[in-house]
Amino acid sequence: MGNLSNRDKFHSSIPNNLDVRALIVTAHPDDECMFFAPTILRLIELKAHVHLLCLSRGNFYNQGAQRVKELMKSCAVLGIPASRVTITDHNKLPDDPNAEWSDSVVSSVIIKHIKAHSFNMVLTFDGRGVSGHANHIAIHKSVSHLASSGQVCDDCCLLSLVTVSILRTYLSYLELPLSWLLPSCLRCVVGVKGYRQAREAMLCHRTQLLWFRHLYVFFSRYMLVNTFQMIPQGPNNLINLESV
Ligand SMILES: [Zn+2]
Repeated sequence: MGNLSNRDKFHSSIPNNLDVRALIVTAHPDDECMFFAPTILRLIELKAHVHLLCLSRGNFYNQGAQRVKELMKSCAVLGIPASRVTITDHNKLPDDPNAEWSDSVVSSVIIKHIKAHSFNMVLTFDGRGVSGHANHIAIHKSVSHLASSGQVCDDCCLLSLVTVSILRTYLSYLELPLSWLLPSCLRCVVGVKGYRQAREAMLCHRTQLLWFRHLYVFFSRYMLVNTFQMIPQGPNNLINLESV
């Protein structure tokens, strides 16, 4: 696969003949199963090394300690061992939709983690953050900045989870044909077994199980399918892509 560009490597499906070291970057405990469960499950199924970096303890209602425990349980259900889960607790990155997360702090935490573990795939939110939460969007902004400024090494593929409309979000299985037909760089779909696993992970987040979360688990297409777009990389990376 050495003569393929990043774009080719990850087009349409997850490669099963590469040593994939994937990092999922989220903002809060429960993002991993609410939004990224199909991706985590598929990557693990394909023997990828999957790590999670969660940038807050979810302390908006002072439940951080409990939510960290819930996150660890959820990750265990999804198949991510505790040794591959990192939760940061930075005073400049509070769990708060009204707080503006520092671009430099977010970028610094993420790039250090990418370099420390030599990830070759990083997956996070897109510019609409799925739910529109400001903390999700801040992560996308920082990863885009890292990409466009050429700070991420050439063999690391950066992907953003595509936000779909509210109508499409709650179509559940009926949305799958659209996700199949529309172009995406990476598409992760789970079947009944995967869906049950994702639901079980979601049920670990007991502090979050308000009535509408149950509806979300039942109807959301993000429990079944994730589609991704490539985050454009900067001049250094583009030069490399053109030369292969
Ligand atoms: Zn979140």
